[in-house]
Amino acid sequence: MASRIVIGDVEVEAGHWIAGEPLGRDSRTFEVFSPIDGKPLGEVSAGGASDIDQAVATARAAFPSWAALGPEGRGKILDRLAQGILDRKAELSAVETADNGSLLLANLKRVVDRAAHNIAFFSKFARLLQEEPVRGAEVQNRVRYEPAGVAALITPWNSPLMLSTWKLGPALAAGNTVVLKPPEWAPLSCSLLAEIAAAAGVPPGVLNVVQGVGTEAGQALIEHPKVDRISFTGSIATGRIVAGAAAAKITPVSLELGGKSPFLVFADANLDEAALTIAAQFHNAGQVCLAGTRVLVAAAIEAEFKQRVLKAAEAYVVGDPRQRGVRVGPLVHPRQFDRVASFVRRALDAGAVALLGGGPHPLGGLYYRPTILANVKQDAEIVQNEVFGPVLTWQTFESDGEAIDLANGTAYGLAAVVYTGDARRAEAVAAQLVAGTVWVNCFFVRDLDAPFGGSRISGIGREGGRWSFDFFCDVKNIAIKHDSFRVGRPSHG
Ligand code: ADP
Repeated sequence: MASRIVIGDVEVEAGHWIAGEPLGRDSRTFEVFSPIDGKPLGEVSAGGASDIDQAVATARAAFPSWAALGPEGRGKILDRLAQGILDRKAELSAVETADNGSLLLANLKRVVDRAAHNIAFFSKFARLLQEEPVRGAEVQNRVRYEPAGVAALITPWNSPLMLSTWKLGPALAAGNTVVLKPPEWAPLSCSLLAEIAAAAGVPPGVLNVVQGVGTEAGQALIEHPKVDRISFTGSIATGRIVAGAAAAKITPVSLELGGKSPFLVFADANLDEAALTIAAQFHNAGQVCLAGTRVLVAAAIEAEFKQRVLKAAEAYVVGDPRQRGVRVGPLVHPRQFDRVASFVRRALDAGAVALLGGGPHPLGGLYYRPTILANVKQDAEIVQNEVFGPVLTWQTFESDGEAIDLANGTAYGLAAVVYTGDARRAEAVAAQLVAGTVWVNCFFVRDLDAPFGGSRISGIGREGGRWSFDFFCDVKNIAIKHDSFRVGRPSHG
């Protein structure tokens, strides 16, 4: 049965993609709609245990020959995939924007390029990372990065194309085959990606996509006995379920979960730049796990700095994410909208004061006003829990020590942002913050060869560069006794 969803002049095959082919729509489907205007986009296959079974079996069958291609052989194909993503930038951007409400211009200018780079970067990285000699007193250690097998990748709706390629790049480059379960609130760009992969010559079975809701398709995938790695990005509640399933099988798992990252502004900072970067936290309607949502400002500059932030925030015009000039689109789903709105309502009821926004946008639908809430206590729900919307809290500090205590005073540890003009202060503060990434006088810079991940409940493990290969590979050490061969010599001897 045909199952194409049409978005403008783009057609997406919205069934599962297994063995390089679209499977057509299931008898069981779920509806996707656009958060831009609430209109239905179409029906997508709702996969279950049997689809996952078929996808994992297909991935297993494709594994030996994909692994045997080696980094060079795989790299040639993955470079074509990266190029295919770039070639279809306009289509991918339009689909992602319609599906999750992200800004069209951001997708066209940055996100799709980054998705392609995610693939191309790891394709190259794998070629450079083949085997390492480590000479010991008694033996020659040869460290090999061997592909683990079938990787299960589960991604969230806030940036499905970017986050799926961030996992696909290293998983495939390392020689694994993959089953990807996209998010049910924004599934379409991953279907298009599967089509691009097939057209780029990724061999059948290497990249399989099973659509479906998390509790069915996702659950079946994490529980599948023939899955060798699970890489998950999503909420903490689901992360616990994923970790439990992985624990039952002792399957290595990488979890990138939520954040409640502090944004520290010291009195000696470049205040204009800091203000612009705080306003930039409203990007993607605040639906960004890394966002620095807890603004912590030196009390001495608070009054002046507040004016600069409010002025910078004026540029964050809310509206249709396809229109030029709009900087904040809709929230992704009515459930997410209710979550954000109720968080803010409870905070205001508890005494918070809205410096900016504080409720739904007059446009209606899923549009919410960029919001900054002051007069909040450190133990308040709005300070302690991730909202995942365009909502920042505003607190002040009197000393560096107090700033650090407030910054570290939640259960999260994904990222932190520090603005200061003093290099020594930057060094000292960054060293004491609990976070997988600390950005100093910048934000959102993620070099692919640097580690990325969360501390505390923000996650388990690090991905990026070598760290991705530590996860997606079985790292094997071959220890060969010196001078123990009668014939020949091991290379790297
Ligand atoms: P959110 O609550 O922000 O939507 P989730 O963590 O529920 O975030 O979703 C992230 C991804 O996890 C989605 O692809 C979703 O389908 C998937 N998912 C949800 N529940 C499960 C589950 N029980 N097992 C596996 N994957 C799941």
